[in-house]
Amino acid sequence: MQRTINYMQRTINRNLLKYSAGRSIFCGQCSAIADARRWVVVSHNDDILGMCAPCWDSLKKGRPTPGFEVVDGREEFGRKKAAA
Ligand SMILES: [Zn+2]
Repeated sequence: MQRTINYMQRTINRNLLKYSAGRSIFCGQCSAIADARRWVVVSHNDDILGMCAPCWDSLKKGRPTPGFEVVDGREEFGRKKAAA
């Protein structure tokens, strides 16, 4: 059952990343072309923000991010084998 939930969660996260990157086309911070595999969706309370992974890395650098829910394309698309 946990396996099924993990699978569903991963599918949802991947689709969220694809949707967000597809809608954005470019990163709002640095104008890099949006790629779901290098895209991060951050939500905090009811605010949702999408940006490229390098921008998220530099933004969160040295800052604690309590209460932030982060969906990172590098993780979501980079662990295919672990879930098989
Ligand atoms: Zn960026």
